[in-house]
Amino acid sequence: MASDYCVAGMRAIRSFTVSPDLPEPLSSLMEIATNLRWSWTPAAQRLFRWIDADSFEQSGHDPMRVLAEAPPGRLADLAADPGFLEYLDTVTTDLRRYVNGPTWFQTNGGSLGSVAYLSPEFGIAEALPQYSGGLGVLAGDHLKAAGSLGVPLIGIGLLYRQGYFSQELSPDGWQIEHYPDLDPYSMALSLVPDSTIEVTMAGEIVLARAWLARVGRARLYLLDTDVEGNDPAARLITDRLYGGATEHRLRQEILLGVGGVRLLDRLGERVQVFHTNEGHAGFSGLERVRQLVMDHGLTFAEAVEAVRAGTVFTTHTPVPAGIDRFPVDLMEKYFSGLAQDCGVSFDELMGLGHFPSERVQSSFNMAVMGLRLAGRANGVSRLHGEVSREMFHPLWPDLDVDEVPIGHVTNGVHGATWVAPAMRELFSETVNPAWYHAGAKDWRRLLGVSDDRLWRIRQHGREQLVEFVRGRLAGAARPGSVSREPLLDPGALTIGFARRFATYKRATLLMSDPERLERLLSNFDRPVQLVMAGKAHPADMAGKEMIARVVEMSRRPGLFGRLVFVDNYDMSVARALYQGSDVWLNTPRRPLEACGTSGEKAALNGALNCSIRDGWWDEMFDGENGWAIPTGLAESDAERDSEEADYLFSLLENQIVPLFYDRGADGLPRGWLARVKHSLVTLGPRVEASRMVRDYVRDLYEPAAAVHDRLAADNYAAAKVLSAWKSRIASCFGRVSVSQVEVAPTTITSGQQAEVEVLVEMDGLTEADLAVEVILGPVLAGDELVVAAEGTLVDHGPAGDGRRRFRGSFTCPQAGRHGVAVRVRPHHKDLSHPFETGLVVWAS
Ligand SMILES: *Cc1c(COP(=O)(O)O)cnc(C)c1O
Repeated sequence: MASDYCVAGMRAIRSFTVSPDLPEPLSSLMEIATNLRWSWTPAAQRLFRWIDADSFEQSGHDPMRVLAEAPPGRLADLAADPGFLEYLDTVTTDLRRYVNGPTWFQTNGGSLGSVAYLSPEFGIAEALPQYSGGLGVLAGDHLKAAGSLGVPLIGIGLLYRQGYFSQELSPDGWQIEHYPDLDPYSMALSLVPDSTIEVTMAGEIVLARAWLARVGRARLYLLDTDVEGNDPAARLITDRLYGGATEHRLRQEILLGVGGVRLLDRLGERVQVFHTNEGHAGFSGLERVRQLVMDHGLTFAEAVEAVRAGTVFTTHTPVPAGIDRFPVDLMEKYFSGLAQDCGVSFDELMGLGHFPSERVQSSFNMAVMGLRLAGRANGVSRLHGEVSREMFHPLWPDLDVDEVPIGHVTNGVHGATWVAPAMRELFSETVNPAWYHAGAKDWRRLLGVSDDRLWRIRQHGREQLVEFVRGRLAGAARPGSVSREPLLDPGALTIGFARRFATYKRATLLMSDPERLERLLSNFDRPVQLVMAGKAHPADMAGKEMIARVVEMSRRPGLFGRLVFVDNYDMSVARALYQGSDVWLNTPRRPLEACGTSGEKAALNGALNCSIRDGWWDEMFDGENGWAIPTGLAESDAERDSEEADYLFSLLENQIVPLFYDRGADGLPRGWLARVKHSLVTLGPRVEASRMVRDYVRDLYEPAAAVHDRLAADNYAAAKVLSAWKSRIASCFGRVSVSQVEVAPTTITSGQQAEVEVLVEMDGLTEADLAVEVILGPVLAGDELVVAAEGTLVDHGPAGDGRRRFRGSFTCPQAGRHGVAVRVRPHHKDLSHPFETGLVVWAS
């Protein structure tokens, strides 16, 4: 294997690539190995296992290494094996058909031209360790599902030469991080010819080149600064995912944002919509603004309008502490030049990253900039949408919190990546051959599946998990002579928990009462076992202490073999856990889990969720498709933890364990399986990433592309108009008011219409500049209005003294006392959101 990278000692000064020497009949193996679709295609995996099953396992599921390390004799034999060649042909044909076949997007006449999806991490497969957790895995699933739907979406990220760390545990359970050097030349990546771009960082020119990963139909480009011509510090910009101090992270984000835009230009991609996955890629917006000012002669304000139109921003954190912020002096070092290019002062540029109430000197907030430079923004679950509107309300202080222009698209997961082959077969046969795109009606067919078959699939998954864990932990430290029992029991109720060990996820909730846990796990007739895995961020001491605590507990005599911690959590560990767990446990402090996706993956495998009502579970729990752990009411975290631990224990003791062990004469847990079916039927159509991507396409990408195109036409004529309009509105709207509201008749029968008429003080604005809206409904005690109808009033001409009359009629479906509220807001056809100006005036 060739490498041009080496951390210590000698450094190669030239690099070259040695491809495996494949005999001609096997040449299509390379095509299969270099498209990461193999990672969710069991038939393709079988092909590489056929070549060398041990090598496939030992390489951490990496076909490129299987090919590189296969002895030439083995390949020659296979090249003469008709059985293998026939199978290879089938897999090759299947891949080509997939890549070139018709798609949902084409069939539905999608009008979207091109979307760039920028993310600091992508979790595609364990062989490409460029992810740390949920954010990256979500990006990978988004890309896979978009490709499979045929949505023209290109991924942009960074290639970290050491990726994310692999985890080892010291004998006392302390996490030790290892950073293996990755050699991109020997991975499923290809260097993109002529892709070298330049990014200026504090006056220094940094070069970056791009690697291409093929992910089914989608392309993922990863920028890499470890190139000749960069000074040693610049070469290290892409060393590690989330490695290093603040300035290092800033440089990575500049590379991702600014470099990402330049790479797309270099590739000749005409992108309509930029989707930034969290704030880290936000500098892409600034670079686009800069280009519009420099190359198209727009003002800064006009350029901001043009950029906003084609930008979608997804926020992922429900807490201010989770947001990326950079100190002003660092921002000045890296962005004073860009401010100059844009023709604005540095302070004006910094204004993009501050709440209105904050002083210029406070640190620059990437989420605030993300929202200011994006016409469309969303949280990642319904609850997280609400939390985000609350959290970012200060950006739109005049709006009601419900009107804050942040919506939600609930995250989904790429089923094919996560679901066990036997379960996928069941879905293909029963739901729909394209089950991952199927709707609720198709999923309901699972209700007719035999309990016996479903149970066999579940049992098999659990057995595989037990075998996987035993294989991994063979030789793991045992507490002296305590036990000769084997690890885990393939027949026991298995609870899974695998995720990052961030403290808010409370991995140790059940360990708050060790005796009760021991009673639960060691019941002779109804045994329960708990399998856990997860990494803590290298700097997170509290997270590492939680891991150490779990490891310590797992060695207690009464828990040994029933509570296990599997080290080096990654996508393959995660998959084994989803496929083999009966219950998927999720214990975040509500509402700190923005969405959570591991429970969705477990659900698709027929596990039942037992979760705090947070993130996705808050909207998808229906009382029967799993269990909700009630949220405690106590004020302090500690008290709430203990309340919720108690609820969780009670659920397990009184409902979950008894239901699992309630067996008929045939040994089948019929009640349990009914719940599993109900869970699959209700969640299947909603948790698939294809549902998520379709939501993005319909609600965000397509409208954004349309506005973008409109604003960009004729050298951004409409962007200039919109910008001038906003500045006019900003100076006049403060004097707009509603001077009179009349409702007639005052008594009507239900079902009849009420006329609403108002007079509006226009202050120089025209009727086209404003929307006058009525909200109407029954009135409760304290004059609180229940919204029953909303509508826009129609202009009925001047009413003297610079006022205009607006009128409309509304049906009142119910009897009783009714009320109306009237508001006026600026209106323009090119706004991305009705409330984006943040301006509104209510009639008093
Ligand atoms: C799905 C997944 C996650 C996200 O899990 P959460 O439920 O969001 O905590 C993290 N890491 C890996 C490897 C995953 O597959």
